Amino acid sequence: MIFKDTKFKRQVSLKKETRDGILSYCKMSHPNEGILILRGKSKKGNIIIDGLVIPPFSHSGPTFAGFPESFLPFDLSYVGLIHSHPIGSAKPSITDLHNFFGLVSLIVKSPYEDDDIFAWDSKGDPIPITII
Ligand SMILES: [Zn+2]
Repeated sequence: MIFKDTKFKRQVSLKKETRDGILSYCKMSHPNEGILILRGKSKKGNIIIDGLVIPPFSHSGPTFAGFPESFLPFDLSYVGLIHSHPIGSAKPSITDLHNFFGLVSLIVKSPYEDDDIFAWDSKGDPIPITII
């Protein structure tokens, strides 16, 4: 190896009020899936999430929440998506990975408490979350 591995250690920094907004939105959407766009910025592998946007034309049901990606306005402050899993674990499904958008995918499992939020990359590997 000539080059050192320069990959930054990835992490997600989630603002506390944004986390609380996510949790109440998921609770409101239950028993359907809720989906939101995450706003923020990425700095050297640290994805800072400080805002939420309700996606245009979203539709949801008990097993699928989504919207056509072509409807998403192009905005560099959109760092990913968050959606809820009313049933089962917070692991991304094949469909979730197929519809991956941005840098990070947050999944919240029922009952949508503080410890029910998980962050994943496009390969389905976990990314640690820090509440800021
Ligand atoms: Zn899912």
